[in-house]
This record gives sequence, structure tokens and C-alpha cells, in this order.
Amino acid sequence: MTVLVLGDQLTRQVGPLADRPDERVLMVEAREFAARHPYHPHKRTLVASAMRHFRDALRDAGRAVDYHVVETFADGLDAHFDAHPGDSLTVMRPSSHGAADRLRDLVTERGGTLDVVENELFLCSPAEFDDWYAENSLQHEDFYRWMRRETGYLLEDGDPVGGAWNFDEANRETPPTDYEAPEIPEYPPDETTKRVQREWSERDTDEWADPEAFRWPVTRADALDALADFCEHRLPDFGPYEDAMVTEEWALDHALLSPALNLGLLHPAEVAEAAIDAYHEREDVPVESVEGFVRQIIGWREFVRHVYRVGMPNLADANRLDAERALPDVYWDGDTEMACLATAIEGVRERGYAHHIQRLMVLSNFGLLYGVDPHELNRWFHVAFVDGYHWVSTPNTVEMGQYAADLFATKPYAASANYIERMSDHCAECPYDPDATVGDDACPFNALYWDFLADHEDELRSNHRMGLVYGHLDDKRDADELAGIRERAADVREGVRSGDVERE
Ligand code: SF4
Repeated sequence: MTVLVLGDQLTRQVGPLADRPDERVLMVEAREFAARHPYHPHKRTLVASAMRHFRDALRDAGRAVDYHVVETFADGLDAHFDAHPGDSLTVMRPSSHGAADRLRDLVTERGGTLDVVENELFLCSPAEFDDWYAENSLQHEDFYRWMRRETGYLLEDGDPVGGAWNFDEANRETPPTDYEAPEIPEYPPDETTKRVQREWSERDTDEWADPEAFRWPVTRADALDALADFCEHRLPDFGPYEDAMVTEEWALDHALLSPALNLGLLHPAEVAEAAIDAYHEREDVPVESVEGFVRQIIGWREFVRHVYRVGMPNLADANRLDAERALPDVYWDGDTEMACLATAIEGVRERGYAHHIQRLMVLSNFGLLYGVDPHELNRWFHVAFVDGYHWVSTPNTVEMGQYAADLFATKPYAASANYIERMSDHCAECPYDPDATVGDDACPFNALYWDFLADHEDELRSNHRMGLVYGHLDDKRDADELAGIRERAADVREGVRSGDVERE
């Protein structure tokens, strides 16, 4: 009897490792898997180093751990079943679609058995979600309120604390120009992490910035420290500024906990409860901050996990707007004068991270307006982000960002420079003019935005949430402006496609 621990299930707090303290543990670090895509080196380092630290912590606690560094997962299972013929493995359900079946086949072919049990690293089980979904449509806000009731988080006598379920209106502020966000704790590479970096150095490509400037927590102790630091220093301002983008503050007041959460180093319950405790114990944590944060953890994160589960396999191929352009090189090299895009991509190149509004309203929005194939963009998010896994990047990118699947998005998240100018300081430093739509200096987002609306008029005009913008498009058409805008959009696309995105 052996507990199989996958690389994103690094927990002793819940699941089979908590329930079966005497069983042997099997872990497989498969190098071919990690080399399959041009992953950001920080992501490869994060996963392999966290796995090795987890192995060491288990051994320090007296557990027998068979840890195989091999080329393929099958090689690891070969080694295991050579040593333990006919063994029975237990594993928490993998997050990726079809992975449990593939794993069972591999184990069965080697004469073993595999018991797939609940993945307790999420708050809402598949059975619970399916019961909810049987009576509800796939809307996040409804799911979130249901989760609040299920968990009892931020409720007073059954009602939401602060008198509202969400405080979106209070969470769209931008900080003053002299605002300095609290310092971010860093977790520089120790010997284990450095060894991983050395082992991979020959395979690293030069697509990313410095592979060695690694900063993410790889142990539970450091992940708990990162959680405490967030609650202590950044939670108070998190809510009001959660949608803001500031060039010199890449992290602003964001929690930066998704890499540790998605590895299993932290459990969503303890993360949400730490923030709720801070809210109850301190005067400086406003309700809009704790509510906004809890919504991300128990609402959005859990919701997309189940959207992925119920939406696959179709979600992986969905493309209802027939967007088929190849992902332009700018996503890899960040070589553009567009300040918002350059800042977001440079952050990804440097540290495998951009916060949620950069992801949605800059990186995804540009892909949507440009007309990139949603699955190329999804692959980029998957390989480039330290917290990117198929279960999380696919619903966020394909459905939310690219409006490709008709699952829950009620309208495309398409925006012109207007939104970015309102929510960031990028436009003030950008050579493009956010108020212009045509002309060589006009912000590329603007012409692409109107062109996108014109392109998809048949699909989108009847959407009641798009009525106002189509009224504006009609105005432009009536004023004979649309042809010039579409010409400018074609020039922008050609410039982006050919890598020549500089102004004339
Ligand atoms: Fe981005 Fe346009 Fe603003 Fe430049 S002007 S930062 S390209 S939105």
C-alpha cells in the first residue's frame, strides 16, 4: 500500500497522507513532462524544488518516501513496481482532465491497482458542485454566495457582514501617485532550489528573463510566512487597489499566494480564515478588502476548477468567435512600445507572474481584440505563469478572457484604452495616445476594439449587455469613421504580426 503524491498535491494536512500516516509514499519527478513545453524556468524550479522539499519534510517526519527523478512518469512507475510488485496505490484525484484515467492505465499495465480519492485541496467537492449546478446556472456570483453560506465565512446571523455580498464598487480605486506598496517577502533559492536550477540550466531557453532570480516559497513554512505577511501588511489596501495597475509596483497589495495554493502548500480554508481572522482582530482591515480576497479564494478559484471539470473536453477546443491568428511574438519577447503590454509581459518574463487585471484586461484583452487563437494564448498562460495549470488557465483564458466557449461569460471582456487609462498609470508614460483611434500615434487598443465589435457584430449585437457599445459603433459608422478605424486596425495587426509594433 502506497500513497502516490503528485507534484501539485504537496499536503500533509488533508487527504491520504493525513489519513494514512504509516503508508509508504511515492513521488515521481518526470523531466520529460517538465520539458514538454517551454515552461518559465521559475515554474519548473518551483514545482521540482517544492516536491523535493516536501519529500525531505516527509522523511524528516519518519516516513518512507520513494522519490524517482526519471525521464517519464511511466519510468517512475516501472521503478516502483519493480521494487513493489502488485502494489496498491492511492492518489488524490488529479486536477487535469483525463489524468486519473491515464494514471490508472499506467498502473494497471504494470500489475498494480490505483484508488483515486477525493482531492481535498479544494473546498467544494465535485459531488457538492454538481448538486448545486443541478439547480443553478453557471454564474459565479450565485456560486460564491452559496459558498459563503456553505462555509459560513463572513456571515452574521446568516447575512453577509457589512450588509452586502460584494463590495465591487469600493474595489476599483487607483492609488495616489506617491503610494508605496509594502515590501514583498522574498524566498531566495536555498541549496535544494539551486540544485534544481543547475540540473535544468542546459535545457533553459533564453525566452525568459534571468532563470536564477527566483523568489517564490517552496516549503510550507515559507508559504505560511507569505500568508502571514500578506495579512499583516497588504490585506488592508488589497481591496480598494485590487484592480489597479501601477508600473513601479508589480505586486501592489496582491497576496501572491496562488503558486503555493496551486501546489498544495497552503489550503484554501486556512488562507481564507487567516484573512477573516485579521479582519475580526484588527481595525485597519476594511470589509471590502477581506471580502474581495475571500471571493477570490472560495469563489473564483473553486468556480473555475469546476467549470473546467464540467466544461472539458469541449472547453479545450472551443472557439466560438473563430479566432485563428497565431500568438504574436510580443507575448514571448515583450518587444513593444505599448506601455501596458510591455509592463505586463516584462513582469511575466521576469517572475512568471502578472496580477489578475493585467491578465484579463491587458494580456487577454489584447489577444481577444487581435484575434489570437484562444488555445495558443491558453498554452502561453499555462507555460509562462508560475501558478498556471491547465485546470486554471483554460477556463480563465478560453472562456473568461477569449469568450470562446459559451459556458458562463455573459459578454466578452473587450476594452479600449479607456479602461486601461482609468485603472493604471501606464498611459501617462506611453508614446501612444489613449484618446486617439486613428493615426500612427493612436493607441492600438482603440482601433482594434471597434474593429472587433464590427467583426463580430452578428454574434454580439443581440447581446443586451452590448447594446450601448453597438450604439457607439453605429455612430461611428454614420459619421463615416468606421472604414478609417478598420484600416488602422488592419495596420496594427500587421505590425503586431510582423513584430514591427513601433509607431511610424
Ligand atoms: Fe496601453 Fe494604449 Fe495606454 Fe499605451 S495608450 S498604455 S498602449 S492603453
